[in-house]
Amino acid sequence: MLAQMLQMQFDREFDDQLRREEKKFNGDSKVSISFENYRKVHPYEDSDGSEDEVDWQDTRHDPYRAGNATATARVPLRRTARSQSALFLFCSPPAKAQTAPRRGFAGKGKNITTKHDAVTCGRKNTARMDNFAPEVHVGDGLGMDLKLSNQVFNSLKQHCASEQRRSARLHEKKEHSTAEQAVDPRTRLLMYKMVNAGVLDSINGCISTGKESVVFHANGGSLDERPVPDEVVLKVFKTTLNEFRNRDRYIKDDYRFIDRFAKLNPRKIIRLWAEKEMHNLSRMKAAAIACPDVVLLRKHILVMSFIGRDHVPAPKLKDVVLSCDDMKNAFYQVLHLMQTLYAECHLVHADLSEYNMLWHQGKVWLIDVSQSVEPTHPHGLEFLFRDCRNVSTFFQKRGVSEALGIFELFNAVSGLNIPIGAENEAEFFAEIVALEKRNEDHVQRRGKKTFAVVSEEEEEDEEGADPPLEADADD
Ligand code: ADP
Ligand code: MG
Repeated sequence: MLAQMLQMQFDREFDDQLRREEKKFNGDSKVSISFENYRKVHPYEDSDGSEDEVDWQDTRHDPYRAGNATATARVPLRRTARSQSALFLFCSPPAKAQTAPRRGFAGKGKNITTKHDAVTCGRKNTARMDNFAPEVHVGDGLGMDLKLSNQVFNSLKQHCASEQRRSARLHEKKEHSTAEQAVDPRTRLLMYKMVNAGVLDSINGCISTGKESVVFHANGGSLDERPVPDEVVLKVFKTTLNEFRNRDRYIKDDYRFIDRFAKLNPRKIIRLWAEKEMHNLSRMKAAAIACPDVVLLRKHILVMSFIGRDHVPAPKLKDVVLSCDDMKNAFYQVLHLMQTLYAECHLVHADLSEYNMLWHQGKVWLIDVSQSVEPTHPHGLEFLFRDCRNVSTFFQKRGVSEALGIFELFNAVSGLNIPIGAENEAEFFAEIVALEKRNEDHVQRRGKKTFAVVSEEEEEDEEGADPPLEADADD
């Protein structure tokens, strides 16, 4: 308190000095420069006369009256005796306060002044500026007898309104961004409930904020008497819908979700993403692919085991520094993972890259499979091709000479023998799209999905024998 008082005294003295300098600088010049912005003490704090303060507030509440009393008369009320001396240097003598007669005009004959009188209106307009939102800086006129024409006042008013709308929008965006962090009140409640129920001991911090999800680290408790792993992650799928709209095609054409997709509202579709990740992880676990264990799914929150140790997540393949041998080994692991995923889990990752593979305990772990689809998905092979491109490019850049090229990798994973020929990507890709199309037609004709993507000749041989895709028990 004492320090604050001393500081205030110091600031006041600084301001006094500033005023003296301002006065010296301006001298008798008609054009004066104000040092107001450099003052330390806010005029409100500078006012130690409580009576003045009341007067000032009174006039603020009744701008019309203030307008009649004129801005000039009003402003000095806020000042202390000290500052008044400075102010009056710029002030015209206060105009005589006029009280507006009820009939709307004053005087007679030639001296009649109506309420439309430019001077009266101008002063009124100046006073009305006090009604603008507090964040709009209208200045205080420094005791000048300001008269704002209606035109100027109206455009200021319009500007002020549009600024307010803009700031409201910004505010809304900020509020919204809490939802972008995925922890909107509903999500928070779900998280609290998990802690309350003892499933989690504590929720610690955010590991990653992506476009579609936020991942938290947490300590496990127990679920139905079963212990939950010591360290888990909560993958919270974002409840803002914009990002997911771009990803519709991963789920809309996934036959496992097709009926439900059509029926659900967009908010509920987000839950499908979490559910889809859970099903895909379960399939992968069954095929012994290194991936997180699913612990629990609650609406759009998926709890799974943590890949890492002591709160430190395993590094992404993109960030890890590996020896040549380890890198080569990692490539073969990824090749094997992709093959198993395709052949045993009947899945294409669809977002496979060095960002979604973690390096932990000398092994490559696959994560982020919410968008993974079956190879029979109408765009499944295109997604696989993209995955192959990411993988092949990454390992080649990291100097793994054994890394297969995009086309070889695609064929090695899918078991399809698309001719590689002139290595023209467009041609290869066109072949993939044609295959997908043939497969779709095939499905249309048979009315069912087949698993293997069949080439034309095989399709002819196969007439009659059409193995339907076996859905997982959990699907
Ligand atoms: P997004 O869809 O946002 O990319 P991811 O599933 O890829 O979501 O997770 C984002 C990041 O969170 C990952 O890059 C990884 O660092 C971390 N992460 C996700 N799941 C786990 C996990 N089970 N264990 C450790 N870290 C994880
Ligand atoms: Mg990811």
